[in-house]
Amino acid sequence: MQRRLFLTLAAAGVASSVTACNALEEQPGPTATLIDDQAMTPTPTPTFTRTPAPTPIPTSTPTPTAPARPDLVKVAIPDGVITELPGTGNLLAWTVDDGSSSEVIRKYAEFARDTGTRLTLFANGAYEGWAENADLLRPLVATGQIQLGNHTFDHVDLTEASDDEVIEQLQKNHDFLVDTFGVDVRPDFRPPYGFHNHRTDHLAASIGYTAPVLWYGSLSDSGLITSEQLVGFAETWFLPQHIVIGHLNFTPVTEVFPQLLEIIRSRGLQTVTLDDVFLKP
Ligand SMILES: [Zn+2]
Repeated sequence: MQRRLFLTLAAAGVASSVTACNALEEQPGPTATLIDDQAMTPTPTPTFTRTPAPTPIPTSTPTPTAPARPDLVKVAIPDGVITELPGTGNLLAWTVDDGSSSEVIRKYAEFARDTGTRLTLFANGAYEGWAENADLLRPLVATGQIQLGNHTFDHVDLTEASDDEVIEQLQKNHDFLVDTFGVDVRPDFRPPYGFHNHRTDHLAASIGYTAPVLWYGSLSDSGLITSEQLVGFAETWFLPQHIVIGHLNFTPVTEVFPQLLEIIRSRGLQTVTLDDVFLKP
C-alpha cells in the first residue's frame, strides 16, 4: 500500500518575523516559545511523499536497537529561517542545545542509543562535555540517529558580535565538530537565544551556514525547572511537525525520559532529525 503524505512547504521567509518571540530560550517560565499565527500560514506545495514500505519479511532475528532511518522522501531545505517541519504528518524534531552539563549530554546520548529516539543536538564546543562524551556520541552521529548542528563555540549573541566574531564563532565550532566527530554539519545552525538578523544570516551563509533553525515549542529548560514542569511543556509542545527545543544543561529532563517517550508513543509521533526531512543544499 502506498501511503502518501502531502506536506506543505513554508514559503521562504514566512517565519522571518518570529525572532523576537524566540528570546525565551534562556528564560524558563510558564510560557513556552510561541510564534505568531501569521508566520504559521504555509503555502501549499505537495512535494513530500512517503515511499512505499517494503513488505516486511519476518525473520527469527529481530534487530535489537538500531532503528532504521525513517523512510521519508526529503524536501529541499527552504531558504531562510526554519521553525517547523513542512506540511502535515506525524514527525517530531526534538532538538537539544548547549551542553553545559556533561552528565546530561551523556544521559541524552544513552537515552537515544537505548530507545532509538532521533535527536538533533546544537552543540557549543566550549563545553567540555562534548569531547568527554565523544566516544559515546560518535557511532550515533555516524548512523545519523543523532545529528549535530552548530550553536556557535561560546554561545554568543550573534547580533551583538562583530562581523569577524560571527564568522569566528561559527567557524571555530564547525572545526571543533569536524575534528571531534568527523562531520560537516552545514547548513544547520541555531543562533544562541534565537537572536539573528539579516547581517548575521548573511555572514553565516558566507561560510555555508545557510539554515538558521529556530523552533516552535520549548521544554523551557535552559535554566533549572522541575521534571514535572518539563513533562508539562512536553505535553504542550510535542506535536506533529513541530521543532521543539530542549537543553543539555540540567538533569531534570534525564529523570523523565520514559514519560517523554510515552507522550511521543501515545500521540503516534515519529522522531526525526532535520537531515531526515531536509535535503542538504
Ligand atoms: Zn543555547
